[in-house]
Amino acid sequence: MSSRTYVGLGANLGGDLLATLTQAVRALSALPGTRLVAVSSAWRSAPLDASGPDFLNAVVGLDTTLPPIELLDALQAIEQAHGRERPYRNAPRTLDLDLLLYGDAVLGTPRLTLPHPRLGERAFVLRPLLEIAPELAPLATCRGWQAQRIERSGPIPI
Ligand code: ADP
Ligand code: MG
Repeated sequence: MSSRTYVGLGANLGGDLLATLTQAVRALSALPGTRLVAVSSAWRSAPLDASGPDFLNAVVGLDTTLPPIELLDALQAIEQAHGRERPYRNAPRTLDLDLLLYGDAVLGTPRLTLPHPRLGERAFVLRPLLEIAPELAPLATCRGWQAQRIERSGPIPI
């Protein structure tokens, strides 16, 4: 049995942000038991509660047989492979991979909260997510997100 999951990608350090996102999408689609079902455009967004240059963001839909914690382990391994460091909270990052939704799972453990707690209030998650899954519009819980600066940058060349 596979589950439909959505993963949010973000990068704002390290040169070619589009290349970073493209490599990350390829790494996600190569995970065991995992099939890539949808890829959003790349979206350029201003840092929100964070510092540094603009972000490039995207969301992918995956069907996977990996359990949620194993998928999180895999996301963090891909972040590490891209030189992710966590010097302080909301620091600029070479690559951030967040597990947004995992089927209908609701989870609140120290390592993993599902759905992702800030999913419904961030334009850089909602714009790409609703681009590939418009039926999820009810998840946009806070109206302010529509005022956040974000623009479509272009396709991700998979
Ligand atoms: P953020 O993405 O919030 O800017 P990090 O990527 O450094 O910050 O993540 C901090 C911690 O959040 C991770 O160590 C991870 O265990 C935890 N976490 C909890 N829920 C999730 C989730 N749904 N997706 C990704 N990480 C999560
Ligand atoms: Mg993260």
